[in-house]
Amino acid sequence: MDLKRVIKKIKKVNAKTVGLQFPEGLKTQAITVARAIQKETEVNVIISGDPCFGACDVSDMRMNGGIDLIVHYAHTPLPIKYDVPTLFIEAYSKVKVEETLNNALEYLKDYSKIALATTTQHLHLLDEIKDHLEDNGKEIVLGSSKSTKRGQVLGCNFSSIKNLDAEAYLFIGSGNFHPLGIHLFTNAPVISADPYSGEARDISDFADKILRIRFARILKAKEAKKWGILISSKEGQHRIELAKEIKKTLEDDGMEGFLILLDNINPDALLPYMDLEAFVVTACPRIAIDDSQMYKKPIITPQELEIVLNKRDWESYQLDEILFHEKNKY
Ligand code: SF4
Repeated sequence: MDLKRVIKKIKKVNAKTVGLQFPEGLKTQAITVARAIQKETEVNVIISGDPCFGACDVSDMRMNGGIDLIVHYAHTPLPIKYDVPTLFIEAYSKVKVEETLNNALEYLKDYSKIALATTTQHLHLLDEIKDHLEDNGKEIVLGSSKSTKRGQVLGCNFSSIKNLDAEAYLFIGSGNFHPLGIHLFTNAPVISADPYSGEARDISDFADKILRIRFARILKAKEAKKWGILISSKEGQHRIELAKEIKKTLEDDGMEGFLILLDNINPDALLPYMDLEAFVVTACPRIAIDDSQMYKKPIITPQELEIVLNKRDWESYQLDEILFHEKNKY
């Protein structure tokens, strides 16, 4: 948990009260970290007990006033202005990747120029991965962007992999969402290699399945006339200007649109709005795609709404992104 760095920083800024924030998977470490900090320093520690999904969700607004420093675990900082000084402690996995890479090479045998992408936990492995693939005769391409590190993709930001000169993409990490995004943004073959299970696979079947689900949601949403436009109060997901534009577009098309501000978007929070027939979500782009089965009514992204309103072709389907360097708010 990099306690040395945390304690050094606390002493350096002479903090009196420190906030700790962990994603769900690391919350079990909270008491150990708080105890260690309180033993080594004079500070009061306040643990954020709310869910935390990313660096878009630093509890700086909630902890503003009385907290001198937030220590946020597991995510890399985003180029947004945090109200409270925040120390990011990235969490890196300790997995070995060689066997996973050898499995991935089977799928990559027809391609010689490969672009790499991964999530925060495995960024430190990129050079080792690159060397291993180069030793196996591959040419490796790595991209970066204003809002992400070299080779890094977020669930809401794929800018590092766009416009790369590569025949295929290798994603190192678990889950389907990131490789799906790479596939949809590049139209290229994507091999997903999970260092925890050691398995590698081609993402195209999964991508087809998701696209079929999205097509069904879009078709259903075409029947809606009364819409809820969901805005997140989380700093890094707060796209109120986009939400207002969507409301105007719906009204120009003779429909109703209602702006709804929420911290955590979930099915129960939408139950009171029985009169509404569909929702468009301007918050985290993963909500509409990953959680869609949990919602009874269609919940779609702004790009999907364009398809509903015949302003975008189905062939130009894209995932939603939050490009943090753009003006998203207020
Ligand atoms: S907006 Fe969603 S995908 Fe992007 S960093 Fe936040 S939780 Fe992750």
